[in-house]
Amino acid sequence: MKKSDAKPMSPVQRLRDAPRCHAKAKSTGERCKAPAVNGWAVCRVHGAGGGAPRGKAHWNWKHGGRSLEAVEMRRLVNALARMVRDEGEAI
Ligand SMILES: [Zn+2]
Repeated sequence: MKKSDAKPMSPVQRLRDAPRCHAKAKSTGERCKAPAVNGWAVCRVHGAGGGAPRGKAHWNWKHGGRSLEAVEMRRLVNALARMVRDEGEAI
């Protein structure tokens, strides 16, 4: 494999060019200005990487019957059934 001829960026420059944290201080109203973590809009002190895992990865996952997808599917089926029922009454 041929090595790239591109000049490697200095770590300092990479941090300077990094997208900034979106968090805002309540007291001053100013932005945090720290570099945001990859894939996040905030820096490591402002909650990047935080929160519980979603779906099956969550430790309280039992059967998925109350998962967002299952509830959404039930809503859709019920709405369709309601439409069919109301349509039947109108005729
Ligand atoms: Zn921040």
